[in-house]
Formats: sequence, structure tokens, C-alpha cells
Amino acid sequence: MQIHKFLAIPKAETTMKRMVWSVTILMATMTSALAQERVDAWYPQTETVGPDEMFIVALGTGMPTPITRAQKSSAWYVELGNGDIFLFDVGSGSAENLFALRPDFNRVNKAFLSHLHTDHVGDVDSLWVGGWLSGRYEPLHIYGPSGAKPELGTAAFVEGLKVAYAWDISGRSGALPDAGGQLIAHEFDYKKENVVVYKENGVTITAWPAIHILDGPVSYRLEWNGLSFVFGGDSYPNKWFIKNAQNADFVIHECFYTPVGLASYLGWGMRQATFVSSYIHTPPAAFGKIMSMVKPRLAVGYHSILVPEMHQQILEGVRTTYDGPLIIADDLMAWTVTKEAIVQREVVSAERVQPPQPSLEYVKANRSGEAIVSDYITAGKWEGYTPPPLPDK
Ligand SMILES: [Zn+2]
Ligand SMILES: [Zn+2]
Repeated sequence: MQIHKFLAIPKAETTMKRMVWSVTILMATMTSALAQERVDAWYPQTETVGPDEMFIVALGTGMPTPITRAQKSSAWYVELGNGDIFLFDVGSGSAENLFALRPDFNRVNKAFLSHLHTDHVGDVDSLWVGGWLSGRYEPLHIYGPSGAKPELGTAAFVEGLKVAYAWDISGRSGALPDAGGQLIAHEFDYKKENVVVYKENGVTITAWPAIHILDGPVSYRLEWNGLSFVFGGDSYPNKWFIKNAQNADFVIHECFYTPVGLASYLGWGMRQATFVSSYIHTPPAAFGKIMSMVKPRLAVGYHSILVPEMHQQILEGVRTTYDGPLIIADDLMAWTVTKEAIVQREVVSAERVQPPQPSLEYVKANRSGEAIVSDYITAGKWEGYTPPPLPDK
């Protein structure tokens, strides 16, 4: 069967063309195992993002439980042709997929959080310390919403991490670049609609409220170089998303289980499954309705464990209400977005990776302080062991 190498989606197109592209994508997704020739892989450290390109990787598309090897929790990597790298959510387990990309960690210095559930923020600590060990010599900036009370906001979450990891961070002082250990919160008012939360280097990121369990969750829209990326974390279908995500190029929104799917997968009763899937999340048919209103170049759903029968149920649910270009994302799918096309590939990486080579700036960055061990503990060193002599610096 002939498989399209490129899943090109022209920016201006009719509904009919959208349907054709949608079918193309689905066919390519479902029949790719039959392809004679498959060129759609992305290998770490083999290419750079072009000056007009936006490169996106799904680092996590799964759930808080079960935490699976196949799918980590919510996290999205966005690299722009201007050199900027942004993370949207850093959910549990997603740091593994981030490290698989072997990125320049000094540029992985900005994360935007949709809300403070572990499946959206659980690996901020691994990013903070792991990135610092792997090349970041400048602070890590965490952007996120306030909450109904100060202790429920992003600033409190970040301060709490600093308290929790005081021992870890103190122990690395002097050995690692001073600035790389800094974690800086940028909290903004979750109630504000379309508020600018970031504007630098030609990139503007706005946020608006989402509806999910407590006050605080938000969605984001990134605009750069005539391209737009929208990221919705968890939410009940909300009017702000439909208004502010309009016509964006790449629109991510949660596409949760159907009530029946959730009941069968987690062994829940129908009342609980209906409540969770359809009152605090967005089930597939509602996701489709939202995308029919938003009309993106590519609609991207996530937030389920894609066992085959569930994947099928989700697709069928979306297709009752939306006939445009669609992907139900899986971990390590990658997209290059330009004005001309959206090309989908798959990250191919080693199971065991090394950190990227540190830059000269990282090696030379200022390191002060010293990890101190008390005389009492030092006196406990066993005399039966002699370490090898330390080589000169
Ligand atoms: Zn949530
Ligand atoms: Zn979630």
C-alpha cells in the first residue's frame, strides 16, 4: 500500500480537504506497519530545527494511574526555529522521554504547567535536578497558575519543592553551576482570560481558565513566526478554549475515555466512570465537538492509556462529532510544523541514553559553596578501604 511520507496539511483548506487529510492521517497511522518504505523516524542529535519550523514531541500522553512504561503522564516538548525550547506540563515519568531526546538542557529552561496534579507536574523535580546535571547552567523557570488560595498556586508548589529537596540541592552546591540550581516561579492569575504570561524573543504565550476539580487549571496558546500551538491540560469543555484556540495550527486538548471505556478499564461503576470522564474531563465526542468549533490544522487528543480497543473507542467517539485532521497522540510522536505542512514522525531512541555533552559555558560556569560532612560522620570511614588516588585537576 502506498503510504504518504508526509502528512502535509495546507494552512488554507476547505472542509472537504480536511476530511481527505484526516483520512490520510488515519490510514497512515493504522497501516504504517504495512509500509514498504518508512522514512518517518526522528533520531536524537541528528538534525536541527529549521529557522521557520516548530518541532513538537509528545513526551507524555497517559494517565496518573496506571503509570505504564509505554505511556508517561502529560508533557509536551516544543522547540522553535529561534532556538527556544518550551515544555508544557512535566508529568510523572515524562523526564525519561525528555532525556531520550538528548536535548541541549540549558535551553530546556522554561516549563508551563496546566495544573498541579502529579500527572502534569510530577517530574518537575527530575527536570530541575536532572537538567542541572545534564547541561543547564541557567535557572529553570516554572510558569503556572495561581489557585483559589495562595497555598494552592504554582509559587507555593515551587517553594514546596525547594523545601522538600533542600538536602539534594545543598549537597550539589559547589559541584554544579550555581545558577542552574535555581528554580524560579512565575505565577499568574488563573482567572484572567487571554492574559499574556510570556513575551520574549518573538514568542507570545497567553493563558485562560480551564474547568477541572478546583479553581486554578489553565490552557495556553503559543504564537511565534505566524505559527500557533495550543495546549489544553485537563478540563471539562469550556467556552474559553473554544474562543481562544480558534484556528490555531496545532491544538492539543485532552480526549479522555468514554464512560464505558473508563468503567471497563479501571473496573469502576458507571456512575463514577461517567462523573470522572464527562464532568471533570472531556470524553471523545465532546473533544470532537470542541475541535469542530476550533477548526485547527491538526487536532491532537491525549490522556488515556491506548490499549487497542480503547484507542478504537476513542477514535469512534471523536468521529461522531468531528471530521477534520486528527491524531490521538502516543508517547514520542513528533511533528514538524511549518506554514506549508505538518509532518508527523516517531522519535527513535536508545533505551539507555547518556546526557548530551556539556557545553563550554556549562564547564566554565561559576560554582561556589561546598558540601560539608561533619567530623562525626567522617570519623566513621572504614580503615579497611583505601580509595584510588585522586588525579590532578
Ligand atoms: Zn488533572
Ligand atoms: Zn490529568
